[in-house]
Amino acid sequence: MLKSKTFVKKTRSGGVMKIVREHYLRDDIWCGSEACTECKQESTELLKDACIESNLCSFPHYLVPDTNVVLHQIDVLEDPVIRNVIILQTVLQEVRHRSAPVYKRLKDIIHEKEKHFYTFTNEHHRDTFIEREPGETANDRNDRAIRVAAKWYSQHLKKFEADTDGLCVVLLTNDQGNKQKAEESGLLVYRFEEYIKSLIANPELVDRLALSNNDKNEITSSKVLTKTRRELQRKRRRKRRRRNREDERRSKHRHTEEEQVHPENQDQVQDRDQEQQQVRGRSSGCRCCFSAVVAGMCGGW
Ligand SMILES: [Zn+2]
Repeated sequence: MLKSKTFVKKTRSGGVMKIVREHYLRDDIWCGSEACTECKQESTELLKDACIESNLCSFPHYLVPDTNVVLHQIDVLEDPVIRNVIILQTVLQEVRHRSAPVYKRLKDIIHEKEKHFYTFTNEHHRDTFIEREPGETANDRNDRAIRVAAKWYSQHLKKFEADTDGLCVVLLTNDQGNKQKAEESGLLVYRFEEYIKSLIANPELVDRLALSNNDKNEITSSKVLTKTRRELQRKRRRKRRRRNREDERRSKHRHTEEEQVHPENQDQVQDRDQEQQQVRGRSSGCRCCFSAVVAGMCGGW
């Protein structure tokens, strides 16, 4: 099956160019599940017995994370405990566009045999490809594509329910709107933090969760985190500069005093230094210059 889109574009030189985009849809893309007896796949990635001890899901299940979950929680996804995950083509493409390092890490996980991560090319599957609707943003279209693919999986796996102890798919998203729409379409959906906290045997995973939990900032949280980090760095730099200035001022002050002392009064200088050390030891007096307190030049704080 072929879907084609034709449009014209104005070139820089003022000419008009006709662009034809062809999108091939196939019916030979398989689910990758060991439990499936319908797909004609030679090898499978997703295990039939996909069990993990969880308060929320007591039955075997495959995880379907959305793009933001992959982008922000890659540390947790890398953990050996997290297995049997379906990475949709939509998610993979979005991750590639938004973060090259995370994309590389995700590809590495997919290549690890023991992790059982399966890439499902939903954008080329006849039943899971969707067109962008008029007025729909690219983000909303991709969220819908993820929901459609998750729905397809849950219906596909339902056929083998009797042999698999109710094997199903769990959509993981921190986007409140997406979660609500998924629930309305009958999908099993959890927030990523909610799911990770439900893993009874692996409480240590909670410590690896990314700090960003705010639903509203969820989409732009990477920008928020970067901004906060920059502010912290700026503050630290300012503090360091201030400390250096104070040290400089203090050492200059001491030098000036030492220069003013006549060589004959060396004993007095030694006595004064001892007094200064005592003052420092008691942690009292003027915070800006201990020597000035002793010499009676500064009124103290
Ligand atoms: Zn199948």
